[in-house]
Amino acid sequence: MIPGAFDYHRPQSLDEAVALLAEHGDEGRLLAGGHSLIPMMKLRMAEFAHIVDLAGIADLKGIHVDGGTVRIGAMTTQHDLIASDALAAAAPIIRDAAKQIADPQVRYMGTLGGNVANGDPGNDMPGLMQCLDATFHLTGPSGERSVAAREFYEAAYMTAREDDEILTAVSFAAPKGGQAYVKQKRKIGDYATAAAAVILVRDGGSCAAASIAMTNLADTPVLCEAAANALTGTAVDEAAVKAAVAAMQEAIDPVEDNRGPVEFKKHVAGVILARAIARAWDSA
Ligand SMILES: Cc1cc2nc3c(=O)[nH]c(=O)nc-3n(C[C@H](O)[C@H](O)[C@H](O)COP(=O)(O)OP(=O)(O)OC[C@H]3O[C@@H](n4cnc5c(N)ncnc54)[C@H](O)[C@@H]3O)c2cc1C
Repeated sequence: MIPGAFDYHRPQSLDEAVALLAEHGDEGRLLAGGHSLIPMMKLRMAEFAHIVDLAGIADLKGIHVDGGTVRIGAMTTQHDLIASDALAAAAPIIRDAAKQIADPQVRYMGTLGGNVANGDPGNDMPGLMQCLDATFHLTGPSGERSVAAREFYEAAYMTAREDDEILTAVSFAAPKGGQAYVKQKRKIGDYATAAAAVILVRDGGSCAAASIAMTNLADTPVLCEAAANALTGTAVDEAAVKAAVAAMQEAIDPVEDNRGPVEFKKHVAGVILARAIARAWDSA
């Protein structure tokens, strides 16, 4: 399929990109790696008269690990996330998750910014960003602002980003403790049937703190605070894991689709979460 005709813009600075978005309003759309947007355009599910490509803006790329803080530019590709040893040392769960996105071809082009800004419930990074309690940095005609990832997702493809804002970077405190991202998919290159991001902090034999988020099991990523609470203060034994899984299954809201019926998805989510907890606890 061939997309509709559009004018292509390649700004060299963030200011220029913001101005182009403001100029073209609803008719303009940002392009990052293109691996969510271009398929939609080719299927004619999306048509825009002006495409503003962010690829020429050097300031939007890069991974900075500074003490306990990690900041990643929006145009950093999923491949870059996997390749960075500094990032793997500061937040191994990012490499763990990025390696499970699509396939190498997609990961060479697809960006962190595009993945989190898109608002597709199937994208893996939004759930992970809930688990990390990340902050999203936005720039628009009125200047810069920050939004907590946990407050960013409103519904499928609906986010707190205004149409004239550009997501410039993601930042978070380097997480302490054991971490795991576990994903069940039908085949290589598929989106998740269910995925779980888990971070557990161990104090002696007990869990001092926990963070859990699930992917593709509702319209938005699901931060499972009750599931995390079910593990905190326990030895992460069988009863605690069972309680966490039950709490997670209460929090998610999957719909039947070609990945299976609701009960199946809830079951898979339970298996995936239990595996993620076990892996995170082992490395805590
Ligand atoms: C075969 C296939 C399999 C895939 N499997 C997975 C998977 O398993 N898991 C997964 O997470 N993803 C998957 N994807 C999606 C892939 O990761 C995309 O690359 C990603 O979702 C979007 O990133 P992008 O850089 O390509 O963004 P684009 O496609 O360029 O943009 C996506 C949307 O975000 C907006 N946008 C992009 N950048 C910004 C920004 N900086 N600020 C504001 N808005 C912005 C665009 O305007 C557009 O609306 C798959 C894609 C394909 C083609």
